[in-house]
Amino acid sequence: MHACFMDSSENYRAVRERVVAAAQRAGREVTLLAVSKTRPAASVRGLAAFGQRAFGENYVQECLAKQRELADPGLEWHLIGPLQSNKAREVAAHFDWLQSLDRVKLVALLDRARPPGRTPLNVLIQVNVDDEASKSGCTPEQIGALAAVVRTAPRLALRGLMAIPAPAADPRRRETAFVRMRALFEELRRDHADIDTLSMGMSEDFELAIACGATMVRVGSALFGARATTVR
Ligand SMILES: *Cc1c(COP(=O)(O)O)cnc(C)c1O
Repeated sequence: MHACFMDSSENYRAVRERVVAAAQRAGREVTLLAVSKTRPAASVRGLAAFGQRAFGENYVQECLAKQRELADPGLEWHLIGPLQSNKAREVAAHFDWLQSLDRVKLVALLDRARPPGRTPLNVLIQVNVDDEASKSGCTPEQIGALAAVVRTAPRLALRGLMAIPAPAADPRRRETAFVRMRALFEELRRDHADIDTLSMGMSEDFELAIACGATMVRVGSALFGARATTVR
């Protein structure tokens, strides 16, 4: 199942070029997050060798195992999957970003557990923008109150919003969700002028997301090939 070295190097170069071109068209800097869930540590090491720093994982234990195996302090780890309360301590101790904050209860747990020697944990509020079936993410109406609570936590740094729009064959439906997220982001920025991150767009639609306002895209299969099992 390992992508060979040549393939991943070419995938990486191609995806980077597409991200840079879309970012230039949009007139904005965009960060590429490499989503390495289900991939072995060797695949992460491969991309790191080409200069990729930021990696996204859905499962805490899977990520901690890779961190131990890689032992590379230069890498930046983002949790992009749902966070259970009983994992908050490990996330605060071992991750650089949490992209899936969706409830007030987690804030105090994370704040208390963030080690004093580390910079504050970067936090994105996950918004359930259009997927009524999904249980992840707060409602658009809850963003302001949740952001205000994050602001009271000295060991957390509010950076912006994240969304996973419902998969839709019709790109116009996704565009509607991305445009809505951009508006919610701008609204939040009126109260919190220093937020800088709108995380949206995956392998299928990252160029559209960038055109609509993304500052970070989360790309897995376009970099590493199709996953054996679909994990969302
Ligand atoms: C898996 C995943 C991605 C990447 O999906 P691809 O379609 O493989 O690019 C991005 N964001 C989240 C939250 C994911 O779970």
